[in-house]
Amino acid sequence: MKNIRKDFPILNQKINGHPLVYFDNAATAQKPKQVIEAVSNFYKTGNANIHRGIHTLSEIATADFEKAREKVAKFIKANDSSEIIFTRNATESINLVAHSWGRANIKKGDEIILSQMEHHANIVPWQILTKETGAIIKYIPITKNGELNLKTLPKLLNKKTKLIGVVHASNVLGVINPIERIVKIAKRFRAAVLVDGAQSVPNMPVDVKKLGCDFFVFSSHKMMGPSGVGVLWAKKGLLEIMPPFLGGGEMIKQVSFDKMPEFNEVPQKFEAGTPNIEGVIGLGVAIDYLNKLGINRIRKYERELTAYALKKILAIKEIVIYGPKIAQKRVGVICFNLGKIHAHDLASLLDEKGIAIRSGHHCAMPLMKVLGIPACARISFSAYNTKEDIDYFVKVLENIYVRFV
Ligand code: PMP
Repeated sequence: MKNIRKDFPILNQKINGHPLVYFDNAATAQKPKQVIEAVSNFYKTGNANIHRGIHTLSEIATADFEKAREKVAKFIKANDSSEIIFTRNATESINLVAHSWGRANIKKGDEIILSQMEHHANIVPWQILTKETGAIIKYIPITKNGELNLKTLPKLLNKKTKLIGVVHASNVLGVINPIERIVKIAKRFRAAVLVDGAQSVPNMPVDVKKLGCDFFVFSSHKMMGPSGVGVLWAKKGLLEIMPPFLGGGEMIKQVSFDKMPEFNEVPQKFEAGTPNIEGVIGLGVAIDYLNKLGINRIRKYERELTAYALKKILAIKEIVIYGPKIAQKRVGVICFNLGKIHAHDLASLLDEKGIAIRSGHHCAMPLMKVLGIPACARISFSAYNTKEDIDYFVKVLENIYVRFV
């Protein structure tokens, strides 16, 4: 998809004297000019608060905001746009579920199942909840190959299991998890399933109905949209009986000094205060952009890049890659270590040559412990990356190996 690079102004620059190779897409993706212009045009010609004004600008802003909600719903094949709740990010979406649904449904002695490959965003909110409620957390182990060991799952579940929280595509192992299989097992025990789609929605087609889960979360900034916008999808019936998360304007129908307020309908019940209006509108434009490229085409292209990169990287001596070695099983995320070089040093040496990668624990400290490493380096692809980017990266990495190992 080389021809789309012209849409991303940030790519057309040199870093440390070298053309930028941006391989940190799993942290955040770059934005096409269509998204940048949508946000900038909102401020230039459309800025107004939504849902409350009767003047023209406010009505247009409200319509554009709600149009974006419909685009999000369609993109993940939700039944209805009222099942889409806008938050600040995937992290806040999980916190919303833990706080609202969790407090209403989880009590002392209940059990929550997460996996060993979860991002902190899908661990910490549950740990806070268990501290408050006296519930416990169990973890699905991973295999040597870096996949979920699902043989263990039926044994982990029992009558006390209330929720399984699992990542759709790991931000460290790259692996895509078999959500439909997990949901099937969970339903036998009437457990709810929350899926963290932060790394799947940007890179592969997602159909929440087909997955069969109860909650699905993701972030705009990882899918070429603006920062500060997250999404929670949940089945409408579930959202209707869940208590509110934050209180304030917009989420109420009636407020008085001395009575409990009457709450608004979903989705407004969960959207207290002024939202990131320009960010949501920008996300709508990012979805238009992804739809124009075709999410199936993006998936196919990124899988090709991943297969190409895996082959070339694995040929480097003393390289260790985490997760399955087959591109088919992955999104375009590859974590690795090279000899005894610390991942941060690798990231600095690559940055000197204009290559932006991520290093560290990737907000998955417990997973690092399972893998027996303090940190690793990560490259991750988006539709604007090319095989030439990978060739250049591998050449620089080989030179680092020769110089430092
Ligand atoms: N889950 C996964 C798998 C992620 O990769 C990330 C971002 N690194 C998050 C959750 C959290 O996303 P955000 O910071 O946008 O809330």
